[in-house]
Amino acid sequence: MIRKLLRKVFHRAAPSPAAEPALIPLERHGIRREQVSPAARKTCKVLQENGHKAYVVGGAVRDLLIGHPPKDYDVATSATPEEVRALFRRSRIIGRRFKIVHVLNGPETIEVSTFRASQDAESAETDEHGRVLRDNVYGSMAEDATRRDFTVNALYYDPERETIVDYHHGVADLQQKTLRMIGDPRTRYREDPVRMLRAVRLGAKLGLAIDPEARKPIREMAVLLENVPAARLFDEMLKLLFSGYAVRCLKQLREEGLHHGLLPLLDVILEQPLGERFVWLSLENTDQRVRADKSVSPGFLFATLLWHEVLAAWENRKAAGEHAQPALFSAMDEVLDAQAGKLAITRRIVGDIKDIWALQPRFERRTGKMPYRLIEQPRYRAGWDFLRLRAQSGEIPMELPDWWDRFAHAGHDERDALLRAAPASDDAPAKKRRRRRRKPAGASAETSDAS
Ligand code: ATP
Ligand code: MG
Repeated sequence: MIRKLLRKVFHRAAPSPAAEPALIPLERHGIRREQVSPAARKTCKVLQENGHKAYVVGGAVRDLLIGHPPKDYDVATSATPEEVRALFRRSRIIGRRFKIVHVLNGPETIEVSTFRASQDAESAETDEHGRVLRDNVYGSMAEDATRRDFTVNALYYDPERETIVDYHHGVADLQQKTLRMIGDPRTRYREDPVRMLRAVRLGAKLGLAIDPEARKPIREMAVLLENVPAARLFDEMLKLLFSGYAVRCLKQLREEGLHHGLLPLLDVILEQPLGERFVWLSLENTDQRVRADKSVSPGFLFATLLWHEVLAAWENRKAAGEHAQPALFSAMDEVLDAQAGKLAITRRIVGDIKDIWALQPRFERRTGKMPYRLIEQPRYRAGWDFLRLRAQSGEIPMELPDWWDRFAHAGHDERDALLRAAPASDDAPAKKRRRRRRKPAGASAETSDAS
């Protein structure tokens, strides 16, 4: 108790709130209220009209300042969740750890949170490594700014007055392209190790350099990520992989030593020479799609990230005498199980991954009714995209995805011709024998061994 008190007096862990924030006028920041989504504007307006403080906060302000279109809007307010809920008919309170309110407006959902204070490591509930487990005390606006992670994330934009309230020199940092932690970086990483991953992701996405003071401790503190729940890590990895800057993020993660031994997935991605080309191709592809606002599928991406692991495990099992098909399924489970402890890939995504993998050997069978059945599969397109990526990386000949592309788009006669011209399946010698028995004479190209 006394030790705790002394620690508190002599070593105040949490940064103290900045006294006076800077009020930055339109001429200096240039964000007009019309640039803010109508739903976020309306939400702030209603809250303000009812006597509360309300600002657009966090990522959206930061993104507007550097000319990125924000992907969603958060509003911070002095109103309690119940007060917010009462002001908007289409709203609901969500969250167990701390309550926030989703305000629905047209197609948009605005996330409204009440100003919160951070608790320092002494008074907060933490795990044995200092990770803060609960963070749900309401506080002043200044305290709300101070509990945020980076200075560029602690900017409050008032759409009515078109001003930014800046407690921690975030605007200046953004102009100088610096990602600076609020408070002592070591303390802040200890409270929440995910901030290390956020630093890398935001730095890569926004083209900001991580301030040396925030960058230096990462390597030695990386090990703290081991204590973060697997589900939270998975959420963060999804954000990273679908940020539109996955290639940059992963290169940076490697540089900061954040991938080693912590996330088996990243170890796999970055240190398998055979699959490296495949993985970078897939990530580049994902980045392009995200930036072009096209849909992306986590199942597809994770299937690519882990594919060469599956291939290796599959080969081992086949070499040990297992039959190809069951060996593939066991290899898939083996790889996914190894992953599950650290990074909790959700069950739905695991299902998608397996579908895509399980289709791959079926592309090798180009005889009889099989191809007709395959192209009718609901996951055919994803399976084919995956096949093409494998070919682009040099794992298999381009002839295979090309053949399937022609087959899928061909008329009846052309399909027959394609089937006759297809090289033999190389996956099942037993089948070849069967086919030969049925068709002893005049074996066509498909049953020859020349594949
Ligand atoms: P993105 O572009 O990915 O949405 P973001 O900064 O908006 O980036 P969010 O996860 O949406 O990220 O978080 C919204 C805001 O909440 C952040 O800008 C930051 O102020 C605060 N925040 C989020 N995560 C943390 C954290 N781990 N520690 C402290 N503050 C955080
Ligand atoms: Mg955000």
